[in-house]
Amino acid sequence: MEGLLPLRPRPYEGELLSSWVQRLAHANMQRLSYLTLLLTGDHDIWSHDPDRHLRPTFGQALSRATGTPLETIHSLTLGAVAGRVVPALPQQAPVRWIMPLYRRGYRRMKPGAAYCPACLAGAQAHVARHWRMSFATSCLKHGLRLLDCCPACAAPFAPLRNDLGRGQDWSLQMELPFAFCPDCGEDLRGAATMPADQGELALQQRLADAVDTGTMVWSGIGTVPSLEGFDVLHQLLTLILGRDAQGFLSTSCGLPGPVGRNERPNRSFEDYGLEDRRTLLAQMDWLISDWPAHLGLLCRSLKLTRRPLMVNFLCPPTWYDAVAETFSQANGRRRYVSPPLADHGAPDEFDRQAQQAPSASERRRWAILAAYARMPDTRAVCEALGVRAELVRQTVRRYNERGFEGVIDARRGSIVEKRRMLTQEQGVELQETLRRQPMSNAELADWIALRAGRRPDATTLWMYRRGVASHSLEGRRA
Ligand SMILES: [Zn+2]
Ligand SMILES: [Zn+2]
Repeated sequence: MEGLLPLRPRPYEGELLSSWVQRLAHANMQRLSYLTLLLTGDHDIWSHDPDRHLRPTFGQALSRATGTPLETIHSLTLGAVAGRVVPALPQQAPVRWIMPLYRRGYRRMKPGAAYCPACLAGAQAHVARHWRMSFATSCLKHGLRLLDCCPACAAPFAPLRNDLGRGQDWSLQMELPFAFCPDCGEDLRGAATMPADQGELALQQRLADAVDTGTMVWSGIGTVPSLEGFDVLHQLLTLILGRDAQGFLSTSCGLPGPVGRNERPNRSFEDYGLEDRRTLLAQMDWLISDWPAHLGLLCRSLKLTRRPLMVNFLCPPTWYDAVAETFSQANGRRRYVSPPLADHGAPDEFDRQAQQAPSASERRRWAILAAYARMPDTRAVCEALGVRAELVRQTVRRYNERGFEGVIDARRGSIVEKRRMLTQEQGVELQETLRRQPMSNAELADWIALRAGRRPDATTLWMYRRGVASHSLEGRRA
């Protein structure tokens, strides 16, 4: 379609992209699916999650049809929290702090997004981007607990479903579709909910401020970059999901935990329902208050060492690492071991390699070696470069064992590089193709072999099917 839509309501502050598009369709008396087909020529815009990954063609078409800058459109997607809440937003793999939609076709198998009945009843009714975050449990505007399903039939909150699938057509309804249960038609504005307590609201405010400002208030420290704060909070949530920690928090601290049993071996905070997440956040809030005294109490009571505090933590900030180190069984002895640097020739090469390194992580490894060559003292290098002792130890060890090779591909996942068979563009093309039509493993292997010249092994096939970059823990959760 060329030209502007006749009616172009503007996005509200904090509105989710799909909510705005739904308002556009409603204002122009079009079915949602018809409007997006008209704009993009694409039949299956809604078979994936445009709030999470906005296809460039869809973004540009919306911008042209409404005269809204592309930046504004991007700010309505979940991509807007990347860099503040999560480092990046992969297209499909589960990601911390963002609720999955548990979709099967247009249906929802479990509640994902939350809502506030009072917000839906307000003057500028819309679906808030915030309601997709797993830490959102109450509404700061109304001081009410959020809900995530229909009070009458328990169907998950999914306003898009009012105008998608099942031959429904919302375009001639008087009211916007947000406040109605897609399964039974119940008016969600009347759903009964309870006021949130003060502690819960204070935490919600702190987290919302961290999303907005990029810095998070942290007791005992002042402020930390919000990405670091959210990383540590999620790590602590994983820590308290364990049975022992739950026992301690509910019995000794009077903080009851989740009611629903969750038997998934790799379970994460996002696997829990809204009510369980509320109790987990209250436990977490206690754990980080009076930092790090309460954490110390928990660790001493359960005899936890550094390991569970750091497990699977890819980039722990130095302030957290320092706290975790106090629980190290080595009592600081192991931390500052400074082995001699092996002589692989040309130690003055380190600085030059650091300048030429293709990635920030490789640059950092060369810088560590350069500093270590000048002063072979782990502690001094840690302090001079602001890096973790473990990274210094690891870099020195790899250099000693494998020389320059060991520094260049220090990632254990170096096999992943070899397993990558498609170019980035081909990877994107494959994901698009997979979304359009399901493929068997054999068909998928043929598709890859046609482009790469050889057939992928089972792991590589798995990675491409899921659209993840590695066979890592986060990838496996997909
Ligand atoms: Zn509200
Ligand atoms: Zn219902």
